[in-house]
Amino acid sequence: MTTTLPAYDEVVARYEPVIGLETHVELGTNTKMFCGCPTDFGGEPNTRVCPVCLGLPGSLPVANKAAIEATIRIGLALNCSIAEWSRFARKNYFYPDMPKDFQISQYDEPLCFDGYLDVEVNGELVRIGIERVHLEEDTGKTLHVGGATGRIHGATESLVDYNRAGIPLVEIVTKPVPGTGALAPEVARAYVTELRDVLRTLGVSDVRMEEGSLRCDVNTSLNLPGEEWGTRTETKNVNSLRSVERAVRSEMLRQASVLDAGGKITQETRHFHEDTGDTTPGRSKETATDYRYFPEPDLVPLAPDPAWVAELKAALPELPRLHRRRLQEQWGLSDLDMQSVLNAGAVELIEATVAAGATPAAARKWWLGELSRRANETGVELADVGATPEQVAELQGLVDAGKLNDKLARTVLEGVVAGEGSPTDVMTNRNLEVVSDTGALTAAVDEAIAANPDVADKIRSGKVAAAGALVGAVMKTTRGQADAKTVRELILERLGAQG
Ligand SMILES: [Zn+2]
Repeated sequence: MTTTLPAYDEVVARYEPVIGLETHVELGTNTKMFCGCPTDFGGEPNTRVCPVCLGLPGSLPVANKAAIEATIRIGLALNCSIAEWSRFARKNYFYPDMPKDFQISQYDEPLCFDGYLDVEVNGELVRIGIERVHLEEDTGKTLHVGGATGRIHGATESLVDYNRAGIPLVEIVTKPVPGTGALAPEVARAYVTELRDVLRTLGVSDVRMEEGSLRCDVNTSLNLPGEEWGTRTETKNVNSLRSVERAVRSEMLRQASVLDAGGKITQETRHFHEDTGDTTPGRSKETATDYRYFPEPDLVPLAPDPAWVAELKAALPELPRLHRRRLQEQWGLSDLDMQSVLNAGAVELIEATVAAGATPAAARKWWLGELSRRANETGVELADVGATPEQVAELQGLVDAGKLNDKLARTVLEGVVAGEGSPTDVMTNRNLEVVSDTGALTAAVDEAIAANPDVADKIRSGKVAAAGALVGAVMKTTRGQADAKTVRELILERLGAQG
């Protein structure tokens, strides 16, 4: 089926989008949620399992205190109220990815509720309401083999790996977010970005979207102005920040084309496809009734001591938005300049470079200039470009000490990125140090004067601006390694002119 999608501008002129986001975060605890199995990524399938996470008869779960603490800290960072009393619930279903045939989750008694997260989009603050933050256990992974698509359709067999089953998982659900108009896709992305930064700052998860430790489902609906909110779809499988934005946009376009044709939106889950950027229908959405929730009888209720919660709150680190504000002030940047630092993903890198001794201006110059360009060219994240903040600070130190000029420093940086060692190593090994020793330069200067008698005459007669041509000639014979200032002084001195 091919349909022509309407233009995005037309869609947002006619319809109002409402978005909502459900984010799952695997906590970085050492052990699983209800047993002592290790949680690290990878490992031979079904080696990190025990009677509890396999749901064998007679085994009993015990809640992981570190996971509860991490969840409360997330709730506090998201301005939530913390329940004085809450319970785990059994969520029953018949997929084979949970050996127990149910998942221990939280239903109507989440640990944290009713908060918000402020995000900035185009310099404006958007407050995203947080409905709830609850704790559950992750499911296993199912692999369908024999089919062309990796989906169950056409597969000859399915394999299941329970290593992931039972890893503590926090679900963070926003309230519906209306009123963002054309910015809806960007707001969605900004929210997930900010949430990821908060979680990273809290140190509760490694928040790697590509490894699935941060996963995002995106709800989207459209309605006509003044009418009730439309039927929403839930897009799953959104594995990068960029995809979050694309998924919302693509659902808005698809839903508009259905509504324009007089059709109705089906409430369903949809799968996002990285390659094409569009979504296809998955299963129709289960309702809460399908899961037959009931309180988990094998676990005691959670009743966190208010004094402990207050302690956790007082010990929260400075959160990313405030941290960025403080850095912006320290670095003396305009909102626009700070925005370009943010867009480049360079905040932490610049911060670390400054901590290693560079000035904010120099750190920003390298990370947003040469290194960003290189990251774009090679398609890697700036942090993975091959230079560390310490190396960048060292490089700038060599420039400040007059050992490298700008051009040589860029060549040295190439060597660093190529893995040739520290800036000092590369400079020494490739013999790139600036030559400012006058003895060594005098010969090159005399040679340049002899080769350009006309220019030399001009300088002798007082036209010192002509010295540039001779400086250029010396730079060329010294392969750019001469100190330009020293060369200029030498030329003027040899020709008896005043600088
Ligand atoms: Zn286990």
